[in-house]
Amino acid sequence: MTYSYAIYLECSDCRKQYSVHQIHTFCPDCRAALLTQYDLTAARQHVDREALRARPRGMWRWHDFLPVHDPRNVVTLGEGDTAILSLPRLGASLGLSRLFIKDESSNPTGSFKARGLSAAISKARELGIQKVIIPTAGNAGGALAAYAARAGLRAYILMPNDTPRANIEESRMAGAEVNLIDGLISEAAGMAGEKARAEGWFDVSTFKEPYRLEGKKIMGYEIAEFFGYHLPDVIVYPTGGGTGLVGIWKAVQELACLGWLESEKRPRLVAVQAEGCAPIPKAFHAGAEFCDFWINAQTRASGLRVPKSFADRLILSAIRESCGTAIAVSDEAIFAAQRELARQEGIFAAPEGTATLAGLKELVRQKWLDPDETILLLNTALGLKYLDQLDEY
Ligand SMILES: *Cc1c(COP(=O)(O)O)cnc(C)c1O
Ligand SMILES: [Zn+2]
Repeated sequence: MTYSYAIYLECSDCRKQYSVHQIHTFCPDCRAALLTQYDLTAARQHVDREALRARPRGMWRWHDFLPVHDPRNVVTLGEGDTAILSLPRLGASLGLSRLFIKDESSNPTGSFKARGLSAAISKARELGIQKVIIPTAGNAGGALAAYAARAGLRAYILMPNDTPRANIEESRMAGAEVNLIDGLISEAAGMAGEKARAEGWFDVSTFKEPYRLEGKKIMGYEIAEFFGYHLPDVIVYPTGGGTGLVGIWKAVQELACLGWLESEKRPRLVAVQAEGCAPIPKAFHAGAEFCDFWINAQTRASGLRVPKSFADRLILSAIRESCGTAIAVSDEAIFAAQRELARQEGIFAAPEGTATLAGLKELVRQKWLDPDETILLLNTALGLKYLDQLDEY
């Protein structure tokens, strides 16, 4: 029995192939992300879409499409299979008949970063890696610390000194070495790269490591399954480094290759960012292939404070291929949407998650959506992790 159909890594730019059985980061020639490729022809013959429903719950029930070859290397805390809920009260107030949210706040460590780091740490264990380093805006640090602890790996975390306190404490609690820096995630990334080179730490930065993407990709499989393999019309995603958005689009391509989709319809992907750090909407509307570095990035939705993603080209092409769009919303709108979602539907979501609601309202105003389309928002983390960012009200 094949546990994983992963066969090689491929550069997202020059298409050069790399082994999935050796340690790789990104393509050294192009400085571009490596994407895991699967033998989907074989999987199509041997994996039964319906049998997957009966496997034990969680992200690893999709192990055929994850990069770990030996099940003994899987490091899990019970991530995945998060709820998809309809939002009838909010939908009615916006004139939308089929509005849903995928609530990632029930993941271990309270955010969807658990998915990516479960995949990355499992694969690191398979490859014999012993110490891992990460620059983070917050939640990735907490998740790395937890999965590294469970795998018995050492973890080193660099985060801005104004990162939400929950992220700092959860990282320390799990025994990670935490270095608070006076700067943004971009500066933390530079420092992590240097420390990795100098001291042999393995850098699990977004897209500089191939496998976090694979964990986040499984959100796309779960969404497809929930909707009976008829994908939603629109998926609204709060974009920082972009692994979730690129991952969901990768899932759509793989599902199409597997022949599992029930219709030709593909979701339009909407990237939402904060007005104080909006490199993706800016590049998207300018018709650019890459983003400019966003100077003076500012937003209290810390996961969105990414001045330039390493995979900006992949994010922009996923939005365009899907006929989606990108939109920036104010912090004021994000925090107003946070209260509204909690009061109307009982979901206390992270500000990144409620940025999707703020963006949705703007799209309704612009009539970019049809009132009867199936629309899915992503809440990426638990609101309670952000008590120190809350507005006075
Ligand atoms: C990291 C993060 C994001 C952004 O995710 P990407 O996949 O890097 O774009 C959004 N929301 C929360 C809560 C996050 O922690
Ligand atoms: Zn390349």
